[in-house]
Amino acid sequence: MSRWLRKAGIGLILIALALALAVLVNTLRLPGLPAAGAGLSSPPAGLDAAVKRLSAAIQVQTVSSSPMQASAENSFPAFHKLLEESFPRVHGALKREVINGSSLLYTWQGTDPSLAPILLTAHMDVVPVEPGTEGSWTHPPFSGAIADGYVWGRGAIDMKHVVMATLEGIESLLAEGGAKPKRTVLLAFGHDEEIGGEAGAKAIVDLLEQRKVRAMFSLDEGSAILDGVIPGATRQIAQIGLSEKGGLSLLLKAKAKGGHSSMPPQQTAVGKIGRAVSLLEAHQMPATLDGPGGKGLLGVAPALPFGMRVVLANQWLFGPILIRQLSASPVTNALIRTTTAPTIIQGGVKENVLPSEATAVVNFRLAPGDTVAQVKAHVEQTIADPDVTFTDWRGPGVEATSVADMNGPGYKLIAEAIHAIAPDAVVAPGLVVTGTDSKHYGRVSDAAYRFAPMRLTPPDIVRIHGTNERIGIVNYGELISFYTALVRASAM
Ligand SMILES: [Zn+2]
Repeated sequence: MSRWLRKAGIGLILIALALALAVLVNTLRLPGLPAAGAGLSSPPAGLDAAVKRLSAAIQVQTVSSSPMQASAENSFPAFHKLLEESFPRVHGALKREVINGSSLLYTWQGTDPSLAPILLTAHMDVVPVEPGTEGSWTHPPFSGAIADGYVWGRGAIDMKHVVMATLEGIESLLAEGGAKPKRTVLLAFGHDEEIGGEAGAKAIVDLLEQRKVRAMFSLDEGSAILDGVIPGATRQIAQIGLSEKGGLSLLLKAKAKGGHSSMPPQQTAVGKIGRAVSLLEAHQMPATLDGPGGKGLLGVAPALPFGMRVVLANQWLFGPILIRQLSASPVTNALIRTTTAPTIIQGGVKENVLPSEATAVVNFRLAPGDTVAQVKAHVEQTIADPDVTFTDWRGPGVEATSVADMNGPGYKLIAEAIHAIAPDAVVAPGLVVTGTDSKHYGRVSDAAYRFAPMRLTPPDIVRIHGTNERIGIVNYGELISFYTALVRASAM
C-alpha cells in the first residue's frame, strides 16, 4: 500500500471516528429520564363522593350531534343545576355567567390585578352513542355505573371528567379556609365542542376579547398521559399539545367533451379527475421535523431505546431516513406534514355516455407552518392541467393554530403538576391532529396548551367517541390532584 493510500485510509478512519463521536455526544446531550421522585401517594380526600358526582354528571345526556339539536340544549339547565348542587363553595365564591343559554364562564377573582389570569377549559357536551352499539356496552352508556374500579359512560374521558375534576380542585382549595387566589382563575366550559364550538367556546372567547382578557396560559383537552401508545417507549409519555392542525377541503372539477362512449377522446373527464387525485397522493406536501410534531418526537427520545435516541438526536445526519420512516405510518405521517386525503369522487351516469364533468373532494389537514394559500398553490402546481379547476368545498378552510411556547411559564407549571401525580412520566410537547375548542381559546392566549392527565393505553383510545368509554377511579383521583396542584402553583 502506498504511503498516500495509507494516509488517506487513516484520514477516513479519523473522519468516521469524529462523526461517531459527534453522533454520540448529541445523543448523550438529550435530557435524561426524570428521576422517580415521590409523587402523591394517596388519593385526594373524599374521592368516593367525587366519583359519585362524576357518575351523576355522566347521567345527564348533554349530547351534541347537529347544530339544530334542541334536545341537547334542553339538557344543559339540568347539568348546570347538578354543578350548583355538587360545588356549593365554587358557586358561592366564583362569578358564574351563562353564555348563549348553555355554556359557562366562571371567574375566581384574583387579588393582584396586575397578574394575567389562567384559563382552564373543557366542554360539557358529549358525542351520541352510535345507533346499534348500545348493547355492546358493558354498562349502559349513560348509566354512570361505578364498577370494577371504573366510572363508565359517555363523557368519562371526553370530557366531563375534566369539568368535574377542575371544579373538585377549586372546591377543595376553597374548603381549605376560603383563600383567595392572587391570580384570577377563569373556567370556561363550552356546550358544543363536538360540533365546532361556535355557540360555546367561540362566544366565550368573543366576550373575553371584549373585556381585553389575555391569559397567561390556557389549558384544554387534546393529549394525555400515553401508556404503551408510542412504540418502544419505556416510560409513560405525558404529551402536552402545543398546536392543532388546520383543515381545508377542495372540490376538484375536470371538464371534457361529452358524447358517445364509442368514440372517446384520449382522456375523459373521469380520466382527468383520476389523474389529478393520483398526482396529489403521489406528491404530498413536504414533511418537516421542526414543527411541534417533530419536536414532540425529540421530547419522547429519553424514553426510547438507545438506537432510536441516536437517530432522533442526530437529525442533521439521519433526518431524511427518519422522515421516510415516519411517513410510512399514517399516525406519524400526520405529525410531520400536511396530509392529503381524497374522500369523495363522482362522475358519469351511464356506461355509454361520456360525462362532461367529473369531481372529487380532497381533504387536507394543515400542519403548523403551512398555510391554506400554500396548499392551494401546491395543488395548482401539482395538477397543472387547464381542464381541472378547484374551488373551496363548504367553507374557506381553517389555518393551523399558532404554536405555544414549550419553554414558557405555563408549560413548566403544567409539567410540574404532571410530575406531582406521575413522577416518572416523560413530559414532551406534541401536535394535536384533531380539532378542539382551543382553536378559539388561542385567541386570548399565546400559550394555549392541550392536555388532560388521563392515562390512556391503546385500547382506551378507541373508547373516545367509541364503546365502553370509562375512567379508572384511581386516575380520576389523579385528575383532581392535578388541577388542584396546577391552580395552587399558578394562582395562589
Ligand atoms: Zn372532547
